[in-house]
Amino acid sequence: MRSVKHYINGKAVDAGSRKHPIYNPSEGRQQAEVALAGRDALDQAVDAAKAAQPAWAAMNPQKRARIFYKFKALVEEHHQELAELLSSEHGKVVDDAKGDVQRGLDVIEFCCGIPHLMKGEFTLGAGPGIDVFSMRQPLGIGAGITPFNFPAMIPMWMFGPAIATGNAFILKPSEKDPSVPVRLAELMTEAGLPDGILNVVHGDKEMVDAIIEHEDIKGISFVGSSAIAEYIYSGGTARGKRVQAFGGAKNHGIVLPDADLDQVVNDLTGAAFGSAGERCMALPVVVPVGEDTAERLREKLIPAIKNLRVGVSNDPDAHYGPVVTEQHKQTVENWIAKCAEEGGELVVDGRGLELQGTDGWFVGPTLFDHVKPHFESYKEEIFGPVLQMVRADNFEEAVRLPSDHQYGNGVAIFTRNGHAAREFAARVNVGMVGVNVPIPVPVSYHTFGGWKRSGFGDIDQHGPDGIRFWTKAKKVTQRWPDGSAQGDHENAFVIPTMG
Ligand code: NAD
Repeated sequence: MRSVKHYINGKAVDAGSRKHPIYNPSEGRQQAEVALAGRDALDQAVDAAKAAQPAWAAMNPQKRARIFYKFKALVEEHHQELAELLSSEHGKVVDDAKGDVQRGLDVIEFCCGIPHLMKGEFTLGAGPGIDVFSMRQPLGIGAGITPFNFPAMIPMWMFGPAIATGNAFILKPSEKDPSVPVRLAELMTEAGLPDGILNVVHGDKEMVDAIIEHEDIKGISFVGSSAIAEYIYSGGTARGKRVQAFGGAKNHGIVLPDADLDQVVNDLTGAAFGSAGERCMALPVVVPVGEDTAERLREKLIPAIKNLRVGVSNDPDAHYGPVVTEQHKQTVENWIAKCAEEGGELVVDGRGLELQGTDGWFVGPTLFDHVKPHFESYKEEIFGPVLQMVRADNFEEAVRLPSDHQYGNGVAIFTRNGHAAREFAARVNVGMVGVNVPIPVPVSYHTFGGWKRSGFGDIDQHGPDGIRFWTKAKKVTQRWPDGSAQGDHENAFVIPTMG
């Protein structure tokens, strides 16, 4: 059986006696295994990182950028192979897996501009004979802990800016689909990255705890579920580390009466069911405003949902594939049962879907109507192909629903009314807003991050915040006294005022 190894100091490394299965969710069987390690493997990675980081940080930023250009070209060359590998372990269809790689690569492209992005600020003559300048310096060693659902994009969102700014990095990918992260690290080596700058270690809670506790790791970026995000945020910050931790989501799509419903149905089916709903920017809640909007939308949604094709992840005609594990299939089906028990009207039931010739973990597209805000199944993230319709009486209620929800990752509004959209975007208590855009993931040169229980910490991922997160600002105030400037010979018993 194929065994996925740790990648430390530019080499494949065996460590850890506990094994975790890597499945092929389309076939419902194990295809490989990964060894779960802890402090010993982490120490090896940190030692390698510590030895390599000073020279990497001292390399001029243009040279560092050239490695990113090369890496970008290599990922493009291997795009199909990476997408197929990703798809076979995750279960998302190959075209969607290509998008996963591409959205990560967009951030690598941004990192190619690191010479410009690392330029500091300078003020000549901030006081008599005094100049002030500031520069950004790397934290030293950073770590990233990533979820299963974007095994290419999220690792690249983290290691790209961390490494470009001069840090060494330790990536702990999801144990469910660890092969692509390792492959990306190998390609970074092939692109010319010195050994020890990007290390991949595998593990579960034991490894995560070792990362939180390791005194040489100065910054942690986490993406995953909220309870673990909160745990890592509080544990890391209590030890003086810089931490950003992004959690779960329950994004709402608001449909105003004047929206183009054919467009909405098209956008909504993709955003609710694409990747089997296993996206933090999926749209699992739809909020039509007014009974008439709800009825018209429902009438169009039902046939569109029934026309969706669920298939194995390499079926080029499938809209989406299986969910990630058998256990997750059970969890999603339990939520469907729960929502029905709570009083939701089960309009389309996706449970019990079986595809001929495979034992994969499929859940058909599911639609609920008349879901109420007090339902547990509404309050919690289901992370499956389940769309819940919550009818709102008016615009105010439509603003309130996502604003009052515990999660605040993304939200979308569908309308032809610019004033209403503007008002909604200004008032809604959610981090990322789409106006007639169902999945408003900002482009790589803007920042990405949710609010409330979707994001702990106050610096977003990628864009200018990626640079800020992985660096510290050093501020230098200097003078070269030669007796000619006012104050050169004055005693300074009062706080200098530059006056
Ligand atoms: P998860 O929280 O189970 O796992 C994430 C990471 O934490 C993995 O590397 C895992 O090994 C590690 N981990 C698991 N259990 C742990 C424990 N007890 N202690 C410490 N670490 C532990 O998440 P997942 O199922 O891999 O991913 C899906 C979740 O991620 C969803 O909630 C989704 O909304 C969220 N997500 C959020 C964003 C965002 O940007 N907000 C993006 C993608 C995914």
